[in-house]
Amino acid sequence: MAAASLCIGVGSFSDPKTVPGMAHFLEHMVFMGSEKFPEENDFDSFISKRGGSDNASTDCEYTTFYFECLEKDLLTALDKFAQFFISPLMKRCSITREREAIESEFQMALPSDTYRKEQLLASLADDKSPVNTFTWGNLITLRDNVSEDDLYKGVHEFRKRHYSAHRMTLAIQARLPMDELEKYVLECFSNVPSNDLPPDDFKQFTNVFDTPKFTKMYYIQPVNEVIQLELTWALPSLLNKYKSKPHQYVSWILGDEGKGSLLAYLKKKVWVLSISAGNGESGSEHNSLYAFFTISMSLTEEGFKHLNEVIEIVFSYINMLKKLGPQERLYNEMKIIGDISFKFATEETAVELVESLSEDMHLYPPEDYITGSELFFEYDPDAIKMVLNSLVPEKMNVIALCNKLPAGLTFDQTEKWFGTKYTEKDIPNEWLKKWQKATPLKEFSLPAPNQFLTENFTILDEEENHAEYPEKILSTPLVEVWYRKDQKFKLPIAYYNFYFINPMGLDVPKTAALADFYMTLIQIQLVDEAYPATVAQLSYSFKCYDKGIVVGVSGYNEKLHVLIELITKYMLNFNSNLTEDMFKAVKNKLIKYYYNCLLKPTSLAKDVRLDILVDNYNSLVDKYNVTHSLTFDDLKKFAESFIQNLFIMVLIQGNVTKEHAINVVNNLVTSLNCKPIDPHSYPKFRVGQIPNGENYCVLESFNTNDSNSVVTNYYQSGPFSVKNSVIIEILMLIIQEPLFDTLRTKEQLGYDVSCSNRDTFGILGFSITVNAQATKNTTEHVQKRIEAFIQQASDLLKCMTEEAFETTKHDLIKTKRCVDVHLKEEFNRNWSEIADEDYMFDRLKQEIAEIEKLTLGEVQKWWQAHTLCGSKENFRKLSIQVAGFSDGGTKPETSGDEEKKEGMQLAIKFIEDNKVQYDAEAPNFITSVATFKQNLFLFPLVGKNKIENN
Ligand SMILES: [Zn+2]
Repeated sequence: MAAASLCIGVGSFSDPKTVPGMAHFLEHMVFMGSEKFPEENDFDSFISKRGGSDNASTDCEYTTFYFECLEKDLLTALDKFAQFFISPLMKRCSITREREAIESEFQMALPSDTYRKEQLLASLADDKSPVNTFTWGNLITLRDNVSEDDLYKGVHEFRKRHYSAHRMTLAIQARLPMDELEKYVLECFSNVPSNDLPPDDFKQFTNVFDTPKFTKMYYIQPVNEVIQLELTWALPSLLNKYKSKPHQYVSWILGDEGKGSLLAYLKKKVWVLSISAGNGESGSEHNSLYAFFTISMSLTEEGFKHLNEVIEIVFSYINMLKKLGPQERLYNEMKIIGDISFKFATEETAVELVESLSEDMHLYPPEDYITGSELFFEYDPDAIKMVLNSLVPEKMNVIALCNKLPAGLTFDQTEKWFGTKYTEKDIPNEWLKKWQKATPLKEFSLPAPNQFLTENFTILDEEENHAEYPEKILSTPLVEVWYRKDQKFKLPIAYYNFYFINPMGLDVPKTAALADFYMTLIQIQLVDEAYPATVAQLSYSFKCYDKGIVVGVSGYNEKLHVLIELITKYMLNFNSNLTEDMFKAVKNKLIKYYYNCLLKPTSLAKDVRLDILVDNYNSLVDKYNVTHSLTFDDLKKFAESFIQNLFIMVLIQGNVTKEHAINVVNNLVTSLNCKPIDPHSYPKFRVGQIPNGENYCVLESFNTNDSNSVVTNYYQSGPFSVKNSVIIEILMLIIQEPLFDTLRTKEQLGYDVSCSNRDTFGILGFSITVNAQATKNTTEHVQKRIEAFIQQASDLLKCMTEEAFETTKHDLIKTKRCVDVHLKEEFNRNWSEIADEDYMFDRLKQEIAEIEKLTLGEVQKWWQAHTLCGSKENFRKLSIQVAGFSDGGTKPETSGDEEKKEGMQLAIKFIEDNKVQYDAEAPNFITSVATFKQNLFLFPLVGKNKIENN
């Protein structure tokens, strides 16, 4: 893929005080057609029809526009793209629609605790400074508080003032000769106008957070069930300290999770479960006016009760760092790791690369465009001291996100834009004094020299007759090992995946919840010893699949086996490392995790759809409900029996010899000392056939304060075949852009509109999803509009020319021929084949062969058979509608709200439309998933292990 990104040195800090969100609004408006290409959707349509994509983002001081497409389309795409900056139309008639798009974007951001916290922090800045703004914009700032004339004039003025060539940077990547690329750029961009005006001057706004409002304690009511503590300091801008990155040195140590660390101590007390420190390097945290430094901790309920002691312990650690002073040894370790990861960096996709490059071109001198954000150039102890000395109690902002307040407090204030409920209080003087004087605890120490650092980066010699796909190199009743040595990427890295398959029945909610429990806890136990490995750029992950747990390990190959041995050790010692206090804390965390998933309409919609489709599926509600009653003994028994009987499927790829691969696996099997399983005891997951016609499942969102709704219309086909899968894929490619244009741009049903092909345990289908808002439309209206679009797409297909069809085929084949940019992609593809037990390693080739044979007639016929538009012979539709609340956020707080969640069993509230019940053509309303599933025909079993590919 080729890609280009243009970044302009202006953002929300330049919003007029009277119209917050102006910069963001302009970012949307500028894409609505140009004089040369006046169609509103011309660019989007051109890009997406050819398998590319485009997007834009508005930050505090930058606005970035980017796209990717096939190389052959680059010149045309660049021409269309450049016109937005030469002569955009920004017509009056586009205003209403894009304003709605901004409102939808804001509505989707509303239930985010991160954005809510960000907004509250911005409101604590000096009123007069550009920081105290509302970057999102919504109908209030762009419609109610401004006349259409003023908005129209304003957005044009803003563009003329700021969208000037001398403040733009452009990055392009394509596999084309340099002079040709240069020619393209000159041809397309030479006419971008320049006004030579300086950017807005913010120099007068130095200490914008030096306000009494900032140095207080805020309790925020979160949307999600979390208990989070955030300590934030506003430092002077650190942009010019990019050569030494002093804040990254401090966060490296404060965020350490190994032995002797702040986290290790707080975790032992079961007060804190995870920690992160530093700053996300994003525009709102790291800009020309200030740099935030934040220590963020996920607390247990016990930890929340000891809030001031937790903070005291944090200062005890900070005071140790101040006392010991900057350590060159640690800086050098950081520098070495930075250098190594830069040298062996995994190649980003073209579009990611140009996006960050175009932004970095604003921040660094030309010689550091590429390395400026990555490398540690120089050790600067004074800068480190400056950062450390800024971390003092009296300059600190404290935010606690929690649903239950300490006695005597109520959420008595409301943030203006997000409606976040919160309360503030002064930090007691005696607390401040205690924190200032906190002395270093004896349990603390600086990170020890890292034993996981790679020293040997030798690449193995090439072999002749090298296999194209993984080969099975070991097969016993206990283990099956697939292996492929890498000769393509030639990097000193490797990937290992172990699938621990266990017959204990992950098909019942209790075992499934226990498996989640086990995975969460083992990672907490493991981190003390495994953290240095992650620092040395090795990584590990635990995932729950339907037949067991998958452990993945990857990174520089030299010491990966040490990490695997460590994980094995923790699997064996799980029960002896387990304490009842930790069990209780993690149980609460898990309950909150399930609940938070249920709060999100999109994950609820997906979960209900799969619950309806898949036999023995464990829904989030079931897992949530069962977790309340899990006991310490349940978990101990699970952990013990989990490793007793196993079948282990392994894939190893990378810079590893066959002998080494076999050795690593044999060591693992020997130490686990497990017995093989009975292959017939695998849990079986089968998919039910949706009855012919329309089936509705309408339910209420669990978040009664949220107006976001989701409608997914799923159309089921049948068992997998390569041919059917490529038919659906090509259909998705054809309908994608018209779908977006109709439902999002024209009808403004919602900000997120998408379609995708589905492979559910080997049963194919496709779905169209719209994230809508209950304040604007009912889910039934959205559902009907999706159906109307299906009709429109039928006409589109009927009129499609053979030529257009051949082009689409060609584009799809091209994307399938796109070479992997990283070993990880190849590894993940092969892993899917193994985990799903399909073993179709040449799937892409088979798909290409089928696409080549495909005719337009076949595609049209498929569409007719599976939608309402034709014979309906195979029309099996399941419409999942999660309805948000149109009065979301405006309802009075019900008393005892907190109490209801404690130990309470949740149930989905189904909504049935009585009006249409007696109509023969009326849809079938699902009001009980279990009853509906009882009567379904189950498709024969296919060897799939994983629920869905996407
Ligand atoms: Zn936007």
